[in-house]
Amino acid sequence: MEAINHIYLDYAATTPVDPEVVGVMTPYFSSNFGNASSLHSFGKEAKEAVERARMQVASLTHSPASEIIFTSSGTESNNTAVKGTALAMRRRGNHIITSAIEHSSVFEPILFMKELGFDATFIDVDHFGMVDPEDIRKAVTPKTILISVMHANNEFGTIQPIFEIGTIAREHDICCHVDMVQTFGHLPIDMSRLPVDLASFSAHKLYGPKGVGGLYARTGTKIHPIILGGHQENGRRASTHNVPGIVGFGKAAEIASLRMHEETASLKKFRDRLIEGLYKDMRPVQFNGHPAKRLPGNVHISVPGVPGDLMLSGLAQNGIACSAGSACSAGNTGSSRVLNALGISGDLAGNSLRFSLGRHTRPEDIDRVIDVLPAIVKELRDKKQGAAK
Ligand code: PLP
Repeated sequence: MEAINHIYLDYAATTPVDPEVVGVMTPYFSSNFGNASSLHSFGKEAKEAVERARMQVASLTHSPASEIIFTSSGTESNNTAVKGTALAMRRRGNHIITSAIEHSSVFEPILFMKELGFDATFIDVDHFGMVDPEDIRKAVTPKTILISVMHANNEFGTIQPIFEIGTIAREHDICCHVDMVQTFGHLPIDMSRLPVDLASFSAHKLYGPKGVGGLYARTGTKIHPIILGGHQENGRRASTHNVPGIVGFGKAAEIASLRMHEETASLKKFRDRLIEGLYKDMRPVQFNGHPAKRLPGNVHISVPGVPGDLMLSGLAQNGIACSAGSACSAGNTGSSRVLNALGISGDLAGNSLRFSLGRHTRPEDIDRVIDVLPAIVKELRDKKQGAAK
């Protein structure tokens, strides 16, 4: 029988819904079940709840509530940003600039737009996984209509210079989109200062429910709706509102704003403790991503010669859940496009693990990993050496 995981270190894949969030969502399933578009009292009640949540989400980004569009996910927000901008701006130009390390929900819509005749430049990253804004500047052409670069990478955690990238976009009057799915609710975001026009969020990465997302769209940003067939969200995204989900997203955003500062500080401490412990007892081990400009809870390692899936199952047998690369590409334990872009070769990419720490991580969880993983790696190395003899 498979061992039950007791230590969850995969918060970048998803987070448990906060009980307080569940509490505020519950009435909107069966008691206050109205359709937010209906004009009677049931509908009005639902609409008020949606608008309250919009304010909660907007407040976490320092933006007016009218600039938040509710969607079904980070994936939908990213699809809307890419396809919606391309369609709305197609008479002005057909060129999109992005990075080589974007999440598939940005990368694949861009490939799709290429098939439709758009042109795209994929900017390489350095060995820390960082985009150089000057490379973006050099890639701009008179036909560029969109620059899309993620805030922090979901696999190896590097935080990108989005202020500088947005500034370049502004200088050239180009729409700038940032995938903030891994940072919204975890790092401070101030849209009143950031030169960014579109940003994607997802509730389930910040202790909210799955299946709810947000797209920040600065007033005046031209974006063609992708989901058609209704007037919801001011005609920017059709479909009946997921009222309980949206209410939960709002509450999760409110809780995040209260806890972010304290949580970031403790996550950084745990992250650094894990890095130190693994470095001490498990060499050779490579730590991926930027050493300082990285998500507070992310540790991404490659262990030369030791397959990620074997380390993963060894950890699972010890009750520890983490991920090999990115959970979004689980099943794809082979070399990852994103790790390749970071300069991690096919084999080494398959020797990688991602730990993502979160709100319920305790110091003893970290100590347990430091205890268990070096022993698993030693055993796998010994086995391999034995087989080679
Ligand atoms: N963008 C990034 C950076 C992500 O990490 C993810 C999910 O892991 C997504 C987008 C997709 O978000 P969702 O799961 O809400 O579709």
